[in-house]
Amino acid sequence: MSDLVNIVVYGSAGRMGQAIARAILESTQARLSCALVRPGSGLADEPLDRVFGALKRDVDFSTSLDPDMPCDVLVDFSGPVAFDAALALAVERRSGFVSGTTGLREEQFASMHNAARTIPVLWAANFSLGVAMLVRCARRVANALPGWDCDIVEMHHARKQDAPSGTALVLGHAVAEGREVDFDTAAVYARQGQVGPRRPGEIGFAALRGGDVVGEHTVIFNAGGERLELTHRATSRDIFARGALAAAIWLSGHEPGMYTFDQVLAPTA
Ligand code: NAD
Repeated sequence: MSDLVNIVVYGSAGRMGQAIARAILESTQARLSCALVRPGSGLADEPLDRVFGALKRDVDFSTSLDPDMPCDVLVDFSGPVAFDAALALAVERRSGFVSGTTGLREEQFASMHNAARTIPVLWAANFSLGVAMLVRCARRVANALPGWDCDIVEMHHARKQDAPSGTALVLGHAVAEGREVDFDTAAVYARQGQVGPRRPGEIGFAALRGGDVVGEHTVIFNAGGERLELTHRATSRDIFARGALAAAIWLSGHEPGMYTFDQVLAPTA
């Protein structure tokens, strides 16, 4: 019997979906069980070699998951509209669920927590090791420098749908945790017009969009006369794909529950 983890990729025609499918095809620990695309996609029922060339296995892109297809973990990088169906499919198949979809509504996070009663669930706004370290650093600096102004600036490619990025929000929550303040009270998402001076304790956000930027985040701590900037720059989507694949392999052995990417990294980070 094979020990490979059978993974279904939801949103496999997208930028991240393709990077993850490729990472699985190259992996010795996982098997691409099914590459799901949206109904009506030009890739539906096409062989994988249309996209992955020599890496292809005997799998086609598909719009539905055959009941006979093994699914240990479903990996979702689709988008907030398709997310609910992806989660429902994982619950129906009683598989693990790994999602990197950002821009989710509160109800969708609640659905994930609900699903975690019956299946293992891991959601992360960012599957990069460097960003995981940045989150830890931001929390620590915010705690050590409580009086300093804090802003989070992010830049992404021109086609990104949500703003600020899910990672920027996670960083903001880490700063709020470090300062033991309520995030929703401290967060300021935009400044325009006669907004007046900055309120003490604000956590500001700025979102830049353009070109093909994979993802950049800077947490800026400002005091009179000095400024500390913590920056992460992603130059390849492969880092997120590797992280999401590591999370899926890790999750496959776990009991139902809600898990974090930090837990996957804990032994090594
Ligand atoms: P994308 O638009 O390139 O890909 C999304 C794909 O999902 C598209 O191919 C779309 O056709 C497909 N899709 C939509 N509905 C579907 C359905 N019902 N069934 C199957 N597929 C469906 O977007 P992207 O850049 O790959 O990003 C996807 C998501 O991942 C976004 O929310 C983005 O913010 C997030 N993201 C997360 C991380 C992370 O590390 N967590 C990194 C990068 C991007």
